[in-house]
Amino acid sequence: MFGNLSDRLIETFKNLRSKGKLSPADIDATLREIRRALLEADVALDVVKNFTSSVRERALGDEVSKALNPAQQVVQIVNEELVKILGGQQRKLSFAKTAPTVIMLAGLQGSGKTTLAGKLAKWLKDQGQTPILVAADLQRPNAVNQLQVVGERIDVPVFAPEPGNGVGNPVNVAKDSIKHAKQKMFSVVIVDTAGRLGIDEELMTQAKDIRKAVDPDEVLFVIDSMIGQDAVNVAKAFDDGVGITGVVLTKLDGDARGGAALSVASVTGKPILFASNGEAMDAFEPFYPDRMASRILDMGDVLTLIEQTQKNFDETEARAMAEKLAKETFTLEDFLDQMQQLKKMGSLKSMLAMMPGAGQMRQQLENFDEKEIDRTEAIIRSMTPAERRQPKILNGSRRSRIAKGSGMTVTDVNSLVNRFEQAAKMMKTVAKGGVPQMPGIPGM
Ligand code: GDP
Repeated sequence: MFGNLSDRLIETFKNLRSKGKLSPADIDATLREIRRALLEADVALDVVKNFTSSVRERALGDEVSKALNPAQQVVQIVNEELVKILGGQQRKLSFAKTAPTVIMLAGLQGSGKTTLAGKLAKWLKDQGQTPILVAADLQRPNAVNQLQVVGERIDVPVFAPEPGNGVGNPVNVAKDSIKHAKQKMFSVVIVDTAGRLGIDEELMTQAKDIRKAVDPDEVLFVIDSMIGQDAVNVAKAFDDGVGITGVVLTKLDGDARGGAALSVASVTGKPILFASNGEAMDAFEPFYPDRMASRILDMGDVLTLIEQTQKNFDETEARAMAEKLAKETFTLEDFLDQMQQLKKMGSLKSMLAMMPGAGQMRQQLENFDEKEIDRTEAIIRSMTPAERRQPKILNGSRRSRIAKGSGMTVTDVNSLVNRFEQAAKMMKTVAKGGVPQMPGIPGM
């Protein structure tokens, strides 16, 4: 996501960094580059104009000329202004004072509403809420069924019209679902509504009627980040027609130019609450404008990375590992454990992409093959416990036996052992509080 935009901005700043003092001409040249990069990423023209003029005003002012490192200061300004157009402060989901909280989803067909309904329900359930999904999309023949499949996947009930009751009226279904939720004590009702391929009157009227019937605490407008320049019109139409309280961006994992993300918040003045980045039910996270800006500017999204790690990493195990590292008793067995931990956290590629500097190793990341971890595992599994504990004893004949056992070549085995040694060295540095170089990541 934001790959090209990120590359362009990083390149622009690289040129700037080589300069000590910045002249107005340097700043103008930088702004031209930024403007071009944003437009190419499909950010709406008005948003780009406002953005560059705010950056220009600040960059020509005292804060840059008096800064110790003017180039760094410009990057800082761009970062702050990016945070602003992404909505500023993070805005959390609002809950009703008395249950149930009602969340209505609106958006074009294919924007990812149904998938999002499931992700949101799972996320809420993980926090101890008891959500129910409501199928108020009766337009698309398969929509109710699709929501039911999603509900089954995450084990969340779905409220839908009885089959055989004809097409049904989505407004009534939505209204009944609230009664049902109250009776059965569900804490959150998520109402999936019908989308169309384009904006039309009937769709807006229906969404408005559903809104009236369920009196939602949140109306989340779901938008596909790949939609491009159209994002602004669609968002405005939904805000005018239905009235939205927040935005959810989907498909941020696609090789989207990302303009929708950067335009919608400032055009509608409505905050982005969540970002969805994959088809899996947990490919979803709360949206933090500051973290997203850091990711775009390749300052790394270390906070999200830490949160994801914490979610999946067993603390006692982590502590034991840290002790081993400090005592330099880290073995290939631990390496194997660690790889399994990494696998639990999900895609290594998406985790690495959040590291500071990831933008500059994009090519390596693209080429990174998640299967490499399986191959590495196969090699380690073909070793005897003694070999795993003491890689030093791995002589030529042992290496060739391991290669045969794992279906790999001796070169693969050698390269793994080398990488392990590097990784152990790198982790020793980390354990001692230093900053590692990158080469020791398994599989890279
Ligand atoms: P709806 O018509 O708005 O309900 O959209 P759906 O939930 O049916 O999603 C449309 C398509 O987009 C489906 O194939 C989903 O699997 C896919 N999709 C939804 N969200 C994401 C996402 O964040 N990333 C990716 N890659 N695909 C997604």
